[in-house]
Amino acid sequence: MQAFFFDQQPLLLPPGHRFPHHKYAALRERLQRTLPGLRLQPARAAPLPDLLRVHGPDYVQRVMDGSLSSAEQREIGFPWNPGMPVRARHSVGATLAATDAALQEGLAMNLGGGTHHAGRDAGGGYCVFNDVAVAARRAQARGDAARVLVIDLDVHQGNGTAAIFAGDPTVFTLSLHGAKNFPFRKQPSSLDVDLPDACGDAAYLDALDRALAEAARRFPAPDLAFYLAGADPHEGDRLGRLKLSSAALAARDARVFEFLDRVPTVMLMAGGYPTELAALLDVQQASALAAWAAWTRWNNAPP
Ligand SMILES: [Zn+2]
Repeated sequence: MQAFFFDQQPLLLPPGHRFPHHKYAALRERLQRTLPGLRLQPARAAPLPDLLRVHGPDYVQRVMDGSLSSAEQREIGFPWNPGMPVRARHSVGATLAATDAALQEGLAMNLGGGTHHAGRDAGGGYCVFNDVAVAARRAQARGDAARVLVIDLDVHQGNGTAAIFAGDPTVFTLSLHGAKNFPFRKQPSSLDVDLPDACGDAAYLDALDRALAEAARRFPAPDLAFYLAGADPHEGDRLGRLKLSSAALAARDARVFEFLDRVPTVMLMAGGYPTELAALLDVQQASALAAWAAWTRWNNAPP
């Protein structure tokens, strides 16, 4: 299985910034050690024509040349510097490469990505460009996939993705998220499931089962799927509020891959804001192992 990374592009943040940018390189190092068969590959920058299938040319230009207003930069959560467009394009590039790999081999990963708060003309919540939307649109434009399913299990609602695909019957967006969590103004997905704070493992898995069954009913036979396996519903997350156990997240991943059974799938790591980095890496490593097991099963390869 192939996994794409972009931590070679550092995120230059002012001292004391709360975004845990070390997590990307730490995950790559962890997986290098624990999953030696994983084919880790550096991402290339997403080509501009691919970005422009989703994002407005004026917004892309402001990201590229640093003319974002201070309100736009506050919304994104990172101050602009010359590294921002480089890194944002590589993050999308990792998802584009993982999509091509998934279409060939069944399943692939981006060790970051899942930037679901970015909309057509604005970023938000640490997201500059919407990687999943760009990759879905490219796959459709190339004729690689007609019907695309997005399963967004990051604890925050996928408002950017929902807005980009609103009214489009070829893309089904499912989001399970904390009702009281960011973003406070949510955009309607094809299917939204709002969960209360500290909702509990059993209630979460039950809601997931029902949501997946409804997605299957309303949107059968997708050609391509994106799975945002956010680690932020975990009890160790300082922003997540859902407080799910590691066992519940492992059950979540297993159910998603069982549900997707051989639909070409890209897994994105999406959010994770740990109090302890090691706890986040444990959750993300478990998700990578679940993907690896599914990829092996789907390809009938020996484990
Ligand atoms: Zn999140």
